[in-house]
Amino acid sequence: MSEAMSDDTTTVEEPTAKLPPEELIYLTPDVWTTPFWEAAAEHRLVVPRCTNCGTYRFPPSAFCYVCRTQEVEWMEQSGAGTLYSFTVAWHPLMPDVSDSVPYIPAVVELPGTGGVRIIGDLVDVRPSEVQIGMKVHLRWRDIRDGVSVPLFAPG
Ligand SMILES: [Zn+2]
Repeated sequence: MSEAMSDDTTTVEEPTAKLPPEELIYLTPDVWTTPFWEAAAEHRLVVPRCTNCGTYRFPPSAFCYVCRTQEVEWMEQSGAGTLYSFTVAWHPLMPDVSDSVPYIPAVVELPGTGGVRIIGDLVDVRPSEVQIGMKVHLRWRDIRDGVSVPLFAPG
């Protein structure tokens, strides 16, 4: 190791996860997803389940992929989940939102749903602490006028 490298002892504290700017979050609910977003506005996480065979289907779809039934019932979830996948975004989407990184988009599997996974940012965690399979729980981010999106925190 060169002497120049051995002098490099600067330590930068790892930041806690931040969130992408809320003005960049746009929702386009349709006939299949409106119940999800209406429940989200009330801070309830719901996923559709086929009324005929009981298969959860998420993202919502017109027909059950098992029995082709159209009808669903929206089942409220506890908010518990397991981290299935994630990435750490270190580069801002645009230069003027550089204070929004790092943020951690994640895929979270919901227990008791046959493998339903939803996407939400992780909060209250540093990037190096995140591990596939860790337990997480639901939080909500209120964006504007009755629009809330799911977040997840460790625990
Ligand atoms: Zn079905």
